[in-house]
Amino acid sequence: LHEKIAQHTAPRPFYTLEFFPPRTDQGFENLASRIARLAELNPLAISITWGAGGSTKDRSLELAGLTQMEYGVDTVLHLTCTNMEKGTVDHVLRAAKERGIETILALRGDPPRGEEDWTATDSRFSYAKDLVSYIRSTPEFASAFSIGVAAYPDGHTESASDVEAQIQHLKEKVDAGADFIVTQLFYDVDGFLQWIKEVRAAGITVPIIPGIMPIQTYSSFKRLIKLSGARVPQDLSAELDPISHDDQKVKDFGVNLTVEMIRRLNSEGNIQGFHICTLNLEKSVLRVLEGLQWTGAVQPPQNKLIADTPGAMVH
Ligand code: FAD
Repeated sequence: LHEKIAQHTAPRPFYTLEFFPPRTDQGFENLASRIARLAELNPLAISITWGAGGSTKDRSLELAGLTQMEYGVDTVLHLTCTNMEKGTVDHVLRAAKERGIETILALRGDPPRGEEDWTATDSRFSYAKDLVSYIRSTPEFASAFSIGVAAYPDGHTESASDVEAQIQHLKEKVDAGADFIVTQLFYDVDGFLQWIKEVRAAGITVPIIPGIMPIQTYSSFKRLIKLSGARVPQDLSAELDPISHDDQKVKDFGVNLTVEMIRRLNSEGNIQGFHICTLNLEKSVLRVLEGLQWTGAVQPPQNKLIADTPGAMVH
């Protein structure tokens, strides 16, 4: 079954790096060499996103297979469960297993654009918790995977329900068998620290890994804020808006802000692990890691995900 990992005192926090599969062969090759360089820095895991509806199925599997098998980095394959052809979930879980992938980020996925009122194409899967339960109750997969699930410190955009109800939905996913939580990107550190207290008060004890996205360009920042519904603190806007026309200044600001956020989350929230959304870019991530002095050799032992509380991480 699972190898449970208890709390570990790390010499310094760990980080995971998220990438999405590029559309073209050239893009894929370029990204592969970027990942190879970043993999040298010993991220605890690499996380590969999934196109909703299975649109990136082959490329996500190929990229995840490459990072797991060729680069030897623990790889987290994101997998959505709704609006996919029946049988896709089993096919992908099997393919992941064949590639040595041992961790799945179990997601519901967004509805197809313009279809807010949708019905599940496979009646077994309406919510992410259905995918967690499915993996845990299917003998072929039950002990093959660690399972992560998503959470939204600033609230889920589409959910009409209040924070408390959303935390209860999160608890249902954990109770269904999830081992850890990765959050949506956010910039409101105070809000996050408050949210995590509420999550803990609700009895959710698994590790929580905050999603951190260094601001790369002003336009991508604006787009992602709109998509994710993340709150932007006033002092952030007050510093960023006046330099919005200067790409280099925006990038520098993004790097410094990320370093500050991670330091604060680590010292005030005792957060011991961070999920960095790279947008497939190398430079800012590297500068953030250098800023934190995390590019040297010391790393927590491989195969362990550690976060802010004791909790079961399974491989
Ligand atoms: P769920 O946990 O199922 O929740 C969906 C909504 O339903 C929430 O509002 C929740 O509160 C509500 N809900 C849950 N249970 C119930 C219930 N019993 N009754 C009523 N309401 C309920 N998307 C991709 O397509 N590919 C990716 O690779 C990807 N990676 C992601 C990585 C991270 C770290 C995060 C945070 C999100 C990612 N997403 C990805 C986006 C995600 O698919 C969407 O946000 C999606 O809308 C919700 O997915 P979920 O797994 O959180 O859903």
